[in-house]
Amino acid sequence: MLNMIIFGPPGAGKGTQSQKLIEKYGLVHISTGDLFRWHTRNNTPLGKKVNDIMASGALVPDEITIAMLEEEVQKTPNAAGFLFDGFPRTVAQAEALDAFMTRRSMTVNCVVALDVPEEELRQRIAKRKEIEKRADDEEEKLNKRIAEYFSKTVHVLPYYERQGKLYTVNGIGAIDEIFQAICAVVEKVT
Ligand code: ADP
Repeated sequence: MLNMIIFGPPGAGKGTQSQKLIEKYGLVHISTGDLFRWHTRNNTPLGKKVNDIMASGALVPDEITIAMLEEEVQKTPNAAGFLFDGFPRTVAQAEALDAFMTRRSMTVNCVVALDVPEEELRQRIAKRKEIEKRADDEEEKLNKRIAEYFSKTVHVLPYYERQGKLYTVNGIGAIDEIFQAICAVVEKVT
C-alpha cells in the first residue's frame, strides 16, 4: 500500500500532479478542497457550515475537516493507497491523521512538498482566474489563503521532517519534469 501526501501552498500545482499520480499508481485521491467545494455546491449541511469560511480564504476548523477526511477514507477500505491533497494543513490534522492511520494499521509513506516561490504562486493564480472562477481567488481572499499557509500550514513540514518522511521537490519547470521528480520519490519509498 502506498499512502502519500502532496503538499504545497495555493497554486503550487498539487491538483495537476495529483491527477497524474492517481493514474500511475492507482491511488484514491482525497482532496479536502474538492470535497468542501462539492459540499458547498450541493448545499449540504456541511456545505452550509463551511461556505462562508471557505469564501473568506480561512481554514475550516480542524474537527470538521478531520471528520470529513476520515469518513472519506472509510468509503474505500480496499484502496491500493491514498493520495492526500490539501490535507493535513495544520499540525493537529497531521497528528489526527497519524492516529487514524495507526488505528487502521496503515502509515503515511511520504510527503512530497512542492517548492514554489510566492511571486510565482500569485502569477499562476492570476492566470488560473481567467479560466476558472473561484470566489477565493480574489486578491483579498487569496492573500488570506497565502497567509494561512505561512502561519499554520508550513508547521506541518517539520512534523514530517522529524519522521524522516519529507521530500521537497522543485515545483518550477515542466509539468512532466516535476512529475518525474515526484515519481523518483515514490520509487525510493516503496
Ligand atoms: P488551495 O488552492 O488554497 O490549495 P484548496 O482547494 O485545497 O485550496 O482548499 C480551498 C479551501 O478549502 C481552503 O482555503 C479552506 O477554506 C478549505 N480547506 C481545504 N482543505 C482544508 C484543510 N485540510 N483544513 C482546513 N480547511 C481546508
